Order: sequence, then structure tokens, then C-alpha cells
Amino acid sequence: MHLKIAILLLGTAAFARSVYDPILTSSMDPSSYANVDVIQTYDFTLTVDVSFDQQVIKGSNILTLRAIQDVSEIVLDYQGLVIESASYQIPNISTTAWNEAYFETQTDSQLGNALRVYLTDKAKRGDQVLLDIKFHTTNESLAINWLTKEQTSSGTLQYLYTKCEPIHCRGIAPLQDTPSIKTTYSAYVTVPQPYRVNMSAVCLSQDEYPQTKTTMYSFRQSIPIPSYLLALVIGNLAQKTIDYRTSVITEPDTLEEYAGILKNLGNLLNETEKYVMHPYIWGKYTILVLPPSFPVGGMENPLLTFASPTIMVKDGSQIYVATHEIAHSWSGNLVTCKDWLNLWLNEGFTTFIERRVSAIVDGEGFASVESLLGNASYYDDMAGYGQTNSYSSLYPLVNHTSPDSASSQVTYEKGQQFMEYIKNQFDKETDFQEFLGQYFNKYSYQSITFLETRLTFNDFVRAKYDSVKAEGIISRVNWVDWVQTPGPIPAGSKINFETDESRAFQKLADDYIALGGYSSPANIDIYIKEDKNVNLKVVFNNQILQRQGDMNYRILSRIDTDLSVTASENPEIGQRWFPLAIALNYDKAFDTAKHYVQSIGRQKYILPVYTALVRNGYRNKAYQWYNERKTFYHPIAAANIRKIIFSSKRQLEGYDKQIENSRDVDNLFLQ
Ligand SMILES: [Zn+2]
Repeated sequence: MHLKIAILLLGTAAFARSVYDPILTSSMDPSSYANVDVIQTYDFTLTVDVSFDQQVIKGSNILTLRAIQDVSEIVLDYQGLVIESASYQIPNISTTAWNEAYFETQTDSQLGNALRVYLTDKAKRGDQVLLDIKFHTTNESLAINWLTKEQTSSGTLQYLYTKCEPIHCRGIAPLQDTPSIKTTYSAYVTVPQPYRVNMSAVCLSQDEYPQTKTTMYSFRQSIPIPSYLLALVIGNLAQKTIDYRTSVITEPDTLEEYAGILKNLGNLLNETEKYVMHPYIWGKYTILVLPPSFPVGGMENPLLTFASPTIMVKDGSQIYVATHEIAHSWSGNLVTCKDWLNLWLNEGFTTFIERRVSAIVDGEGFASVESLLGNASYYDDMAGYGQTNSYSSLYPLVNHTSPDSASSQVTYEKGQQFMEYIKNQFDKETDFQEFLGQYFNKYSYQSITFLETRLTFNDFVRAKYDSVKAEGIISRVNWVDWVQTPGPIPAGSKINFETDESRAFQKLADDYIALGGYSSPANIDIYIKEDKNVNLKVVFNNQILQRQGDMNYRILSRIDTDLSVTASENPEIGQRWFPLAIALNYDKAFDTAKHYVQSIGRQKYILPVYTALVRNGYRNKAYQWYNERKTFYHPIAAANIRKIIFSSKRQLEGYDKQIENSRDVDNLFLQ
């Protein structure tokens, strides 16, 4: 893709220079401009004031860096910010003087901006450098979502939350925004009273200033983390302890209800810790349940997992998301992918651990059905990308494209199946768990690629078994085929996740189709009475969606009359049912579908509905539904919905994955 390059802004003391060459990204991470190969941040201090009236965060970020080579230039990432000034100090040269720094900025449409800061004094290899950048945010920041009172559940205060993964931390503050390095951080956040603040760090103090009617919250994260795990939330927040190390934070009106649904959170943490054979290092574990606009199911910010309220369904069927986020405490937060090409090391490992813990807590059948559904969605995503596209592999070549474009079920489910395949090569599951424990121990606090994983696996197998057996296992695990080859998993490796129950629900769907809507199958009670594993109902809905070509209005109508699918409150069912209802012009479901997309912000659930509207001739309706609630959605979700609404039909065949970026789409609309 062609990139537009322009100098946006020069520092007050900077010299004018024209830059027409493409901006070089980091040699360690193609999604960042930071020159972390020559100088690396190891701590930063964010000091900011938050104004809800102006919707601005203003302050400074002081980075503490270490020069790996002699260096006179520091490159940071930023997006949607105004850079006000830059100054630096090299304590080896002077411990008191802050020097104004020359800086210039460059931008492109995919990765935000590069901030180049030039040091008059050269830092020598090993020197510590302090860099102070003053800045404020704009409403272009893709990390920050400002909510009105009306968009919250308690309706008393405005609300702010951030979402940084993969490359949006640069929309909160200028920094080296790459998972290839890890830093500790401190933060001082001043807010109007009575707002409360939480971060992915330990809260040290709250100091109230009566004159300005503000409170300053101080935080410290003393465990090094990648930048995408920075998280900030401000609002009318309350906290309830669940047990000695778990708790829940949300708005006061829903606190008791959510604490009830999450009453077994401590058990999930204990079981996960036991499974991975490595201690939980983060101290406490807290889930923050966000307002409904949160665009994803969960985000594994350390000490403050963010969760969509869609996981709080009373039937408990979505609690696996909590297990997933807990598992990230090891795969992702402790051992981290070095760049976004290796994201499966976070997500594939985590999905696998999530399923194994679900199998222990809720039974093998529950976990198998999760994998069965995950397998179907991963095949759908591959169909969207194309079977030979690297995005259909565990090594998507994101290069200079926003890594958001490669976020799909492939990373999760194909990665999960690879781990399952590896596990099955061992004599017993505990041998595999031992491997996990050693792996997490060896790479704690580090960022790695799949090559380190492969090496550790080979070493472990050779130490564990005799040489004939070990070499046999190693030869059966083809990392190139599994990781780098696009398309389905290697031939002969297929794992069957079907269970007797899932087969019965698929058959029920097939029977409905066979009867053509003129009569109902005899055993519809299995659907009506199912209350232990609601995901079996999702299997049924998935099957009618997969067989969309054999469905018609009459069959759909009969299913709805028998099974009340339109009225189901489970979003996993809505995600499959509403697109099908729209495709078959089943008008009785349209009002509920509208309410569904206007009350949920989680993209997984709503993007398929918007896509179905546009594909089936309801583009105006899609725009109307979106436009009525456009301030409700998170900026990233809103941008993705706009991509769907304003894209051509041909582009929609590739879903919303490979189309122009949102700013171009906005321009298209203005024309
Ligand atoms: Zn995850």
C-alpha cells in the first residue's frame, strides 16, 4: 500500500527539513518507529491532568532510557497527540540541567507518527538519558474513549477508558510503543472530584486538593511490561473484594450483580496457576467491567483486566473470557511476543490454556464445544483473507500495515490447535504442563519470537525422553508448516472437537433444513431444555449459518417460533442468528437486531450484523443504525463499522480486513 508521508509539525527550535523518504520502522518491530536497537526505555513517569469538559489529557511523559550504542537521536511513536516541547538530560554529563531538544515529526496513515528528538550532546553507550516530552491529546487518539454520562450504567459521571493493544498506547503518550521492550512505570493522574482512577499498576495514594476540587492518584507498576499493557480508566467506579487476591471494579449500580457472577474468579486463577506450573507473579487480580461500548471481550491489562459486560450473561456461558484473560498473566504479560507477527505466542498459548482450564472447571465437553466453534470462526476468517495470504498463518506479515488488520481468530484458534497438537505428542499431559512451566520460567519478563519457543521445546523434549523418542517427537512437529504456512493446519493433524451432544445439536439443525419449514423435528426439546452448556445452542445456530445456502424464510420462521431464537439474550447466538435473519429478509428479527447492535460495542458481535445489512441491500439501514449511536461506539469500532458501511461489495467479500483506512473512508463519505 502506498503511504502518504508528510512533515506535520516542527518543534519551536527545530530546523526545517523536508523528508520524502518513507519513515523507517524499527529493526526490532515493523509496527514501531522507535529506534530501540540503539536506545531503550526502561522506566517512564506519566504526569497528566484530565479534563472531561475539554476531553483532553495534558501533561508530560518523562522517559528513562539506556543507550545501547553512542546515540544522538531518539525516535518515539505517537498518534493523535500535539507535541508541545521536548527536553533531555544526560546525568553522566550534567545532573541538573534540562536541555531543550530539537525535534521533528513525521506521519503516515497506518502507524501514526514518528517523533525524532535530536540531542545536542551525544549519549555514550551505557549512558542513562532522561527525556521529557510535554503533550496533550486530541480527539484523533485511537486509544482513548470518552463517554458521556448517558453512556454509562449509573448515569452520574462521564467516563474514560483506554485500549492500547496493539499499537495505540502511542495515542495516550509519546513513547517507544513496541512489545519488543518492557518498562516499569509511574503515573500521577489528576482528575476533577469525585472521579476515581484505576490503572494497570498499584495505586499508591490519592491526594485531594480542595482549592481546585481535584484529586491526584499516584500509581507504580514495578514489574516491567510492554507498552500495550498500559491502561487507564476514570469514572464512577467502585470495587468489591471477591477473595484474598481477586476483586471486581465497575460502576456502583452493577457491582453486586457482577461480583455474584464472578464469585468463582479466585478458583479460575488457582486452577490456571496449577495448570501452567508457574506461580502468579502479579500479586492481586482485578477485573474491571466496562460500559457496553468496550470493543473487545477482554483486555489482559496486569492488575486490571478489562472485560466487556457481554461476558456477564447470567447463564455463565461467557466466563471463559475471564479464564482467557487470567491465562494471559503468563502467556502475553510475563512472556511476550516481540512483535505483532508473533502474536500467536500470546493468543494461541492463552486460548489453549483457557480451554484446558475450562475442561477442568466445566468439563471436557464444554471445552470441546468452545474449540469446535472457534474452529468454525477461524475458517471463516481464513476464507476472508484467502488461503494463501500470510494473515491465514500464525505469522502474518503485517510489515508497515496496522497490526489491527491481522487481528483474527486465526491467531487464537490455529495457535490453540498447534498447542493441542504439541500436547498430544507427549506421553502424558503433565509432561506438557512441565514444558509450559519451564518455558514461562525461562522467558519471564522477556519478549520473544517463535524461534525461542521452538528451541525451548526441542531442548525440553531431548531432556525429557530418550533420544529415539525425542527425535521422533521433534520430527512430527513441523514448525514451518504450522506457523508460517498459510491455510488449514497441516494434513494429518486434524483434531476432532465434536462431542455426542454437539453432534445432536448439529443434527437438529440439519433436520430442520431437511423438513423445509413445513414441520418441526421431533426432538426440539433438547434445545428448549438445554441449560448446562448454552454453547450447544450456539452450535445449532452456527450450523444453520454454515448451511445458509439451504435455508429459507419458512425454515427460519419455524425455528424462531419453536425455539424463540430472536429473543435470546446470549450475544453468541445473536452474532450468528441476526446475519442469517437479515440475509433471509426475516423482518420479525430486524427491530431486535437493531437493539442488539445499538446496545453492544463488542466488535465480534456487531460487525457481522453490519456486514450482513450491507451485503443484503440494507446499506441505508446500516448507516441509520450506526448514525443514531455513533457516539456510543469506541473509535476503533466506529472506524470499522464505517469501513463496512462505505466499502464496496467486492471489498466486503474480504470482510473488513483489507480495505482503506478509516480516515480515507471518512473522506469518501464527505464527497
Ligand atoms: Zn487474548
